[in-house]
Amino acid sequence: MGHTRYEPHAIESRRQAAWRERDAFRTPALVEEQTHLYVKPSAPFTSGNIHIGHVRSYSIGDAYTRYRRARGDSVLFAFGFDAFGLPAELGAIAGGIPPAEWVAGCAEHMTGQLQRLGFAFDWERSFMSSDPIMYRWSQWLFLTLLDAGLIYRGTGNVDWCDNCQTTLASIQVEPAGTCWRCHGPVRLIQMPQWYLKISAYVQENDLRLAERERSGLWDKVALDSQKDVLGRIDGVELELAGRDGACLTAFTAHPDEIAGARFVMLSPRHPDADVWASEGAVRDSLDQLRSGGWERSAREAEKIPLLATGRTVLGPSGRELPVIISPLVDSRFGPTVALGIPGADRADEIVAGRLGLDAGDGDGARDGQEARPLGTAGALAVRYRAFDFAISRQRSWGTPIPIVYCEDCGAVPVPAEQLPVLLPLDIRPTGAGNPLAELEEFVQTSCPACGGPGRRETDTLDCHFDALWLWIPACVPPESRGEPLEQILALPDLRYWLPSERLVAGSDSGNFVFDQRTVTKALRDIGPLDFLADGEPFAGCLFHEMVIRDKRKMSKHLGNVVDPDELVERYGADTVRLAVLYAARAQRTLDWSDSAVLRCSRYLAQVWEYSHAKLAQARDAAGDGAQPGAVAEEERDTTEHLRLRLGKWCETAVEKITEEMDSLEMHSAVRNLMRLFERIKDFEKRVLARQPELGAANRGALIEALALHAQMLGPFAPHLAEELWLEFGAEEHGAQTPWPGVSFQVPA
Ligand SMILES: [Zn+2]
Ligand SMILES: [Zn+2]
Repeated sequence: MGHTRYEPHAIESRRQAAWRERDAFRTPALVEEQTHLYVKPSAPFTSGNIHIGHVRSYSIGDAYTRYRRARGDSVLFAFGFDAFGLPAELGAIAGGIPPAEWVAGCAEHMTGQLQRLGFAFDWERSFMSSDPIMYRWSQWLFLTLLDAGLIYRGTGNVDWCDNCQTTLASIQVEPAGTCWRCHGPVRLIQMPQWYLKISAYVQENDLRLAERERSGLWDKVALDSQKDVLGRIDGVELELAGRDGACLTAFTAHPDEIAGARFVMLSPRHPDADVWASEGAVRDSLDQLRSGGWERSAREAEKIPLLATGRTVLGPSGRELPVIISPLVDSRFGPTVALGIPGADRADEIVAGRLGLDAGDGDGARDGQEARPLGTAGALAVRYRAFDFAISRQRSWGTPIPIVYCEDCGAVPVPAEQLPVLLPLDIRPTGAGNPLAELEEFVQTSCPACGGPGRRETDTLDCHFDALWLWIPACVPPESRGEPLEQILALPDLRYWLPSERLVAGSDSGNFVFDQRTVTKALRDIGPLDFLADGEPFAGCLFHEMVIRDKRKMSKHLGNVVDPDELVERYGADTVRLAVLYAARAQRTLDWSDSAVLRCSRYLAQVWEYSHAKLAQARDAAGDGAQPGAVAEEERDTTEHLRLRLGKWCETAVEKITEEMDSLEMHSAVRNLMRLFERIKDFEKRVLARQPELGAANRGALIEALALHAQMLGPFAPHLAEELWLEFGAEEHGAQTPWPGVSFQVPA
């Protein structure tokens, strides 16, 4: 073997060819008694390029996948592209081509980048959410949830961006109240929308978090993201009555301070708002409030609209409390009714000031003597900020909503057997309005109920809706993809692979995961996913933080983007993959520096060259016919303890690294592996300090240790590790490098 210099590009293309040839990443057949798991990577947007954040994400999932395969487990590792939505549409506008063409080009390029990095995805199973055979899933899900009452038509406030001429899901509104896409101001306007009723499962999603936590398979970042989305607030609720007998159930998070209540605030989305604002001018003001026009940025207590209904209820301390309507409630407790307690809450204090209410404890009730408030103690209650959200958009690059409007029958669902409702592919969006609505041959159709003239729904589904099912199709064998959805969902494959053993995704995936957890529970109750008793799509969940540079988010604008292609070109895929794992724990933000790459590049070169040098020496020694007894008996004795210590080091490393791989602590695993390599070299140094040459027993121990090291390097630097493993005497064994057993012993 002449090639002792580390040449990553040659090694990597050799290995990748070998993997293709032996179809190394094919999803294994269903064998019930075999330990099997589905590792779910995130579904990338067809943004055009794989960025370093993707490399981090997939390096974690790939290392875990390879580790489990090396242990003999069956692993499903595949993904689809999230190809619909605004980013793709805007990319197509910029490129001056139809979106379908744009996303196809992106997916091809990104696939090539991922293959060059050597990720072990089953490419046969990858898919595009924008393919008709796939967006059928969205349409089927829409009809199924509609039928179950979990999708409804509502008219209400939606976030609207004037620049993008579109409504936004709450996830798309930045904390500052600006548009995720253009960062322009977002207004609330009134518009008919399709809503997803996640509120039906918010409580169960909350209750099941404790189970997630106990399982130990959900990391803290992932758990926290779910709590964040829930926005759970614990408190009490009280029944309050007005003079006319009308009742309100008001919530407060400050049960000990209810005596300090000075007003009651109702969400404009609460059904009671209509009851309490029923009179003329107040009614008009409520309509005005709902139809918006107020800036999203005016959401702080200082500026948010307040509508006095002119009515009061009797408060807990017998005081008359004015009833106010304001969206301020929503952002704090969801669409509910809240008690305003200026003494206990800063926002309430500001509102009381704006209303000219006295905030102190002072004068007591005006006619409190005879007033007997209801339920002063209050019943324990919980509120969640998470609430139903709009899933339709006025944009053309998305799944057509399978609804036809008929003069006589109203909104009629398209029958399931007529799916998919095809999206015309010749649309060229300009960035304004909705070109789908202008396409008469799409819009005009007949009513599925009466056969009369009908018009298609021209809103499309937000790509967030596609994400609800994107975790399932990887489980479906390609040859079954065309079958009716009911048949697909009844496949044994789904029962075999689901729930996913581990989702590995960015820490900004909290909303996606929350809504996927919601829909899984809905499909469990409706039937197709009834085998998932707890309604959880992911048994385990690892959220990693993002990659930044110079303490800032990467952006073209700042010129601080790390280009994975450039790095691979320069150092090879193994180094880049290893570096993102080495540089930081997954749960910590990775502030990019080239020193991690340089460190990993040096390490891999050393591993390669040192291992080859030792192998060559061992072969030479064997060729010279060197006898094990060539070293004098007493000299061999003086190194035996070193050999034993090397054995102990190896044993400890295998134990620790195995444990770390099991819990996806790749960062520690890599560092322990590097430490083992240092110790192996140190062993040789110490032996040679005592005697002129290693001797057969020490040489054997050294080679064993290096082979063990190569085995454990497999999940991180798979190309180099496999070549080394093959050279350490293992035959081309068809499958990949096995993981060492924890009882591994270096022969003394
Ligand atoms: Zn915008
Ligand atoms: Zn009709």
